[in-house]
Amino acid sequence: MAIASLKLWRELEQESGEELFVPSGFLALDGESAWGTRFISQSYQTLNGLGLPVELLEEAELRMRFPQFRARGGLLDPGAGVLLAARALGYYRSMLGQWGVNVLEGEKVVRLDLAGRPEVETESGRRIRCRKVVLTPGVWSNSLLRDGLVRVTPTRQQVIYLRPTRDSARFRPGSFPIFTVDKYYGIPIAGTDGVKVGYHRTPEEVDPDLVRRTVDPEAIQAFLSVVHRYVPELAESEVVHSKVCLYDMTENKNFVIGADPECNSVIYGYGFSGNGFKFAPLVGRLLTELVLEKSPSIRLDRLSPVR
Ligand SMILES: Cc1cc2nc3c(=O)[nH]c(=O)nc-3n(C[C@H](O)[C@H](O)[C@H](O)COP(=O)(O)OP(=O)(O)OC[C@H]3O[C@@H](n4cnc5c(N)ncnc54)[C@H](O)[C@@H]3O)c2cc1C
Repeated sequence: MAIASLKLWRELEQESGEELFVPSGFLALDGESAWGTRFISQSYQTLNGLGLPVELLEEAELRMRFPQFRARGGLLDPGAGVLLAARALGYYRSMLGQWGVNVLEGEKVVRLDLAGRPEVETESGRRIRCRKVVLTPGVWSNSLLRDGLVRVTPTRQQVIYLRPTRDSARFRPGSFPIFTVDKYYGIPIAGTDGVKVGYHRTPEEVDPDLVRRTVDPEAIQAFLSVVHRYVPELAESEVVHSKVCLYDMTENKNFVIGADPECNSVIYGYGFSGNGFKFAPLVGRLLTELVLEKSPSIRLDRLSPVR
């Protein structure tokens, strides 16, 4: 799915005339956790098995090629890169009118009636009867799902952006890859003014409407100590932004993409478990194929809404 998605992002760049994908490479550093070491060996086997370029770097070679990092080794996937999310969404948004899509801004759907032709009701009392409904409510999915469907667990995720105090060119794609170490991750300066640092664990289940949207000082300290350890040059940086956003975790982290087995006029796309943006154009295509009752271009059995 990632290979197919990258191809679609490249096509979208052609279509929009915009740079959306900035190649940077991906470096999984060998840190302290057994999970991290396993992630590296399994990723190596998987990428190698798919015939994709991938390298295992020893400490000396890592230091020579990526002098910003300190680690005993790592895995390099040169095919990875940064997606300029806001620019991509901006382009999609700009095309909606041309595609004849009418957006009802600020209309919260409160009820879904699946009997016969589906009917959607909004908080303002608007009722829309339609032939097909595509439901992609992200972390807010549970309130709209009928019993028996896969549920999501909204989790609170914190990220910070670090502006290097000197020589920020050393932290841009081309010089600085995306990196992970023991479930922490970093994304080079692209489309923003800082290196993004986050944590891919999902410790905190939250109510998406009541979640605290400010980053905890302890989280900032944890990010800075990881940076100090593995990317010492970045440790002096200034925290220029911080934000909280949410993952919609499914139990086994597999997405939900599929029609409702009890009513194929309703199609679901949710539960992207913190990994969905890169697949956006492919998910769009799969949902379209389901709406048009075509056989999906990717097998969807393991992504069924009923598991
Ligand atoms: C910190 C963080 C880092 C991430 N990093 C990456 C990454 O590096 N790469 C990657 O691929 N993915 C990443 N992701 C995951 C990615 O952001 C998500 O998987 C993706 O954005 C999910 O898109 P979505 O359309 O399913 O959900 P959303 O973007 O949440 O859209 C759901 C929409 O539904 C609307 N909605 C909900 N309920 C209702 C209702 N009742 N009525 C009307 N509208 C409603 C909401 O307002 C919202 O606009 C990250 C996520 C987080 C939180």
